[in-house]
Amino acid sequence: KMAEKSFKYIILGGGVSAGYAAKEFASQGVKPGELAVISKEAVAPYERPALSKGYLFPEGAARLPGFHCCVGSGGEKLLPESYKQKGIELILRTEIVKADLAAKSLVSAAGDVFKYETLIIATGSTVLRLTDFGVKGADSKNILYLREIDDADKVVEAIQAKKGGKAVVVGGGYIGLELSAALRINNFDVTMVFPEPWCMPRLFTADIAAFYETYYTNKGVKIIKGTVASGFTAHPNGEVNEVQLKDGRSLEADIVIVGVGAKPLTALFKGQVEEDKGGIKTDAFFKTSVPDVYAVGDVATFPLKMYGDMRRVEHVDHSRKSAEQAVKAIKAAEGGGAVEEYDYLPFFYSRSFDLSWQFYGDNVGDSVLFGDSNPSNPKPRFGAYWVQDGKVVGAFMEGGSGDENKALAKVAKARPAAESLDDLTKEGISFAAKI
Ligand code: FAD
Repeated sequence: KMAEKSFKYIILGGGVSAGYAAKEFASQGVKPGELAVISKEAVAPYERPALSKGYLFPEGAARLPGFHCCVGSGGEKLLPESYKQKGIELILRTEIVKADLAAKSLVSAAGDVFKYETLIIATGSTVLRLTDFGVKGADSKNILYLREIDDADKVVEAIQAKKGGKAVVVGGGYIGLELSAALRINNFDVTMVFPEPWCMPRLFTADIAAFYETYYTNKGVKIIKGTVASGFTAHPNGEVNEVQLKDGRSLEADIVIVGVGAKPLTALFKGQVEEDKGGIKTDAFFKTSVPDVYAVGDVATFPLKMYGDMRRVEHVDHSRKSAEQAVKAIKAAEGGGAVEEYDYLPFFYSRSFDLSWQFYGDNVGDSVLFGDSNPSNPKPRFGAYWVQDGKVVGAFMEGGSGDENKALAKVAKARPAAESLDDLTKEGISFAAKI
């Protein structure tokens, strides 16, 4: 007979948002048995960005329990046993396959039923797969993706099995850039392939990208732009051995890593809740159109107050903050109170090789570069501003110090007027530091 369990609160998902929501519930106080976290993963919530960085180091690699939430923001580390100690039920290896928001119930793949009073949807994203686009041979062995810890373990296994071999990385976003670096550090012969004219095109300008592409090339990473992987061939044992490109070239490969984007996991709720821009529509407290149902992290399309529009943000800082906001709003409402509206300043970052960049704000309007963006310098330190309607709206820096990165955040938040683009270039980070 299938089990039925009831909780006051259920967090659906076991990723970054789930971990930070659990932490906030715990700090506000939950009674034993009130809260459950349900995840299809086998491990307690962890800081997902580690999977494409420290997890893949050839030496001293990051491993759980080292990066469980909420260490990424300097918060308390919630080990699997911490959930128990705090009276939170952590239900792992459990995929929810059916959600009935009207009946307030979830059903797992094993047929267990979970009832809730309040639901927080924190299902995150799933990777886009080349098999979804019908790319020939895309189901060959050692064509790998990276989203969850199981995926990362497969990458580690392949790195060990194919030591010093050839890797092709498909995609020029942050996953592509971080994985290319990780494979290179592991002594692979690495080629990146992406269709756009430069890497990280959704954020980087041509100037910023030129720095990273030259830096990577100097590290021995080959970069092929303006084409896509159109097919794969495999050895008789099923393992990939060649990537065909649309421009007619082909590349040998022992491992292929694909990072071509992600889509939010909203399918369980289709037709039951209002959507917007591909995500679940929420208000400034992450409440959805359905009473007692909240959505946070990658799946939420929320009002970005500063810019007066609705956005979906697939980055870790927002997944943490939206989760905290939702729990604070839930708890405040129970006490008859309210919290301030979410007022998010977009923040993204990435790290690879010895590089580390941060970006705050909006990358719209004209942009200017400042500082020393010579990729051959041992300590590159440069940045960029985006200026719209005479105001600085976005700020980026590679190699910034803690204080400089704080200044980036301040300038993007304050949106000061900029006299001229030339002055910004000359003043560089000191413009932001004055704010
Ligand atoms: P997730 O963390 O993806 O968690 C979703 C959880 O829900 C997962 O545990 C999943 O298994 C579970 N789940 C989904 N559906 C079901 C179901 N039906 N039943 C049960 N469980 C389910 N952002 C940055 O800003 N900087 C970075 O450097 C950076 N690096 C990244 C590196 C990698 C490899 C990846 C994949 C992402 C990275 N991100 C980074 C993005 C960031 O990690 C995400 O934005 C963040 O994890 C989103 O949090 P979330 O809780 O919404 O989703």
